[in-house]
Amino acid sequence: MSSPHPPPNTEASHDPKWGTPLCSVDEVITQEELERRPRRAPDHATENAALVALIKHLAESPKTLLQKLTETALTLCRAESAGISIEEVHEGQEIFRWRAVSGRLSPFLNGTMPRRFSPCGTTVDRRAPQIMQEGVRYYPYMETLQVPLQEVLLVPFYREEKPVGTLWIVSHEKTGVFDAEDARIMGSLCQFASAAVEVLDTLQTEERTRHELAEVKTKLESALEAGAIATWSWDVHSNRVHVDPYCAALFAVSDEDAHGGPVEHYVSAMHPDDRDRVAAQIQASILHDEPYDTEYRVRSRDGERWVLARGKILRDEQGRSSQFAGVLADITARKEQEMRHDRHEQELREKEREIREALRQARDQALAASRAKDEFLAALSHELRTPLNPVLLLASDAASNPAYSAVVRADFDTVRKNVELEARLIDDLLDVTRIASGKLKLDTALCDLHAVLRDAVAKVQADADEKNISLQWGLDALQPRVSGDAVRLQQVFWNVLKNAVKFTPVGGIIRIESRNISEDGQIQVQIHDNGIGIQPDDLARIFDAFAQGALQEGAGMPLFGGLGLGLAISQRIMQMHSGRIVATSGGSGQGSCFSIEMPVVAITQTSSAEVPAASSSTHAATATSQNSSSRLNILIVEDHAPSRQVLERLLIRRGHQVTPAGSGHEACAHVTDRDFDLVVCDVGLPDTDGHTLLQQLHRLRPGLPAIALTGYGTESDVRKSDIAGFITHLTKPVSIARLEAAMGGIKAGPMA
Ligand code: ADP
Repeated sequence: MSSPHPPPNTEASHDPKWGTPLCSVDEVITQEELERRPRRAPDHATENAALVALIKHLAESPKTLLQKLTETALTLCRAESAGISIEEVHEGQEIFRWRAVSGRLSPFLNGTMPRRFSPCGTTVDRRAPQIMQEGVRYYPYMETLQVPLQEVLLVPFYREEKPVGTLWIVSHEKTGVFDAEDARIMGSLCQFASAAVEVLDTLQTEERTRHELAEVKTKLESALEAGAIATWSWDVHSNRVHVDPYCAALFAVSDEDAHGGPVEHYVSAMHPDDRDRVAAQIQASILHDEPYDTEYRVRSRDGERWVLARGKILRDEQGRSSQFAGVLADITARKEQEMRHDRHEQELREKEREIREALRQARDQALAASRAKDEFLAALSHELRTPLNPVLLLASDAASNPAYSAVVRADFDTVRKNVELEARLIDDLLDVTRIASGKLKLDTALCDLHAVLRDAVAKVQADADEKNISLQWGLDALQPRVSGDAVRLQQVFWNVLKNAVKFTPVGGIIRIESRNISEDGQIQVQIHDNGIGIQPDDLARIFDAFAQGALQEGAGMPLFGGLGLGLAISQRIMQMHSGRIVATSGGSGQGSCFSIEMPVVAITQTSSAEVPAASSSTHAATATSQNSSSRLNILIVEDHAPSRQVLERLLIRRGHQVTPAGSGHEACAHVTDRDFDLVVCDVGLPDTDGHTLLQQLHRLRPGLPAIALTGYGTESDVRKSDIAGFITHLTKPVSIARLEAAMGGIKAGPMA
């Protein structure tokens, strides 16, 4: 046995050459054989000494006790080999492992043998000592040992009734050498073997656990290192903190502090602004047993760093808090990125705010500029109209004064017409400005378009008559009801009719037609003339503001006058009524036709009784002559002296009693003193405005009728007058006939 053979192993057990046993098992291994043999006398002294040595060995070096046991068995039983085989499962196979071997077979230490080819299996199953002779006959596998095994005594041992293994001794050359005494000695050694296996198992488990723990620790340490994660634990009773070297570096604490330094040393490394917050979070975590998770700054060896700390309170079995432990990561890079991002966001917000502010300022400025422009235009219009007022009053009065000759009356009438034209130009300029700023508003109501048309025609009738132009009618539309602003629609018709009269030579013809042109209810009004016509290129252009046709321009401005605004305004008005206006002409000398189209209102939507005639608001009120008003006691409030004086003279000439006042103060004084039938009041006064004044006058004389006569003529001015209580708002300049018409319904009081 000097040259060791490879130990028997599981592979060998499957080798077919070890297949069939040569005899039955009982022929090679029995218990009876042992009982048949004479038993030698026990040697207690030697045995006791051996057992004492074993106990000592167990206490001193339990790991080698099994080996010691085999040696003891070898000696006490005078055997040539001894061993301990322990049953185990290896790679799914039940085997016996030679855990300790002494004597000739010792080279096979740690070898294995499949249970089913092993006499150990037979022995533990039979639960009694067995003598095996020439065992190779039944266990051919043993051939591999290449050592003669004449006789083997095997004794099984158990732990808590479960088989553990066998203790065996071998006689290689002779048979009949072992007896029952040997079996008894082996039995008592087996007690040790069982205990030793248990101790060894425990030691092995501990070793394995220690090894696994060390492995886990190594892995954890490398994971923490790779993730730049530090660990810490704080003993809440002693207030001492243990940290790893990485954590110690972050907090810039000494090696001594790293191993149980006072918590204050760590607190003082924290940024002062973060301390209270972190302390509160730790307290809350301990109190509510919640995970602790926070970020704060520490003064590390590399300067200030941001750390993310997470932890948890650990409790003992009684639930008392003992350790507060966790991890910590350096998040400075992320924090700096976040702060850069926040700063960037902040800058963006700041920029956005600045832009908003700049926009707001720009809008405010634009609004202020627009307001200033509106105010300027209103003031300009007021200033332009006011001086026209006395002129128009005088001219209109003289033009109809029978005391003058026809020639003089005609001259005055020319003055009247030109003043009215100038006022119209002012209106058009204001309208164009309103259109450009989107401020043109409609006062929409249901109206009869034929009535609106007739009112417009009435306004140009005199001019047409003067040029001996005949007006022909063909109003065929059965459905003339529309929803619109009668004043603005009349303005459109008047523009077109005025042009037709203007551009048609003496003795010409103007034909006015209407028809319903579609099933969905459109009305078309056409105004044809046989005048100078329009060049094809100009047909669209003439609707642009300030544009005039070539025939007009070619003829030189003075010939026909005008600014080229009327059609631009008309087009916009029609668009606002969901309608349109288009011009057609055969060209120079071929006459022109203007078509005005807009939707009608279905007859079922209203009864004809509801349709008012064309409106007669202050804008372009038809000046129905009303000379029949009774003699009135009139207070004129007007700071423009020429207007005031002319008005006074003309009204006195018409039989009225007139009291002039140049200011609000004067007016109040007059009204306090006596009764009036009517107040004709300018709106812009030196000491007040007409609206406020009227309220004062109404407090003195409730219900006193008043007419606003002013150079301010926008829709909002008209509305304001209405709200203030004026019965009519007349925009300067006014003709005397228009003023009389407005005074038409006013009755004289008992004093007049
Ligand atoms: P204005 O008449 O004040 O010049 P309008 O906008 O009303 O401005 O008209 C623009 C131009 O269209 C006129 O100057 C003229 O050249 C042309 N026009 C308008 N109506 C007629 C018409 N019935 N016959 C010939 N030309 C016309």
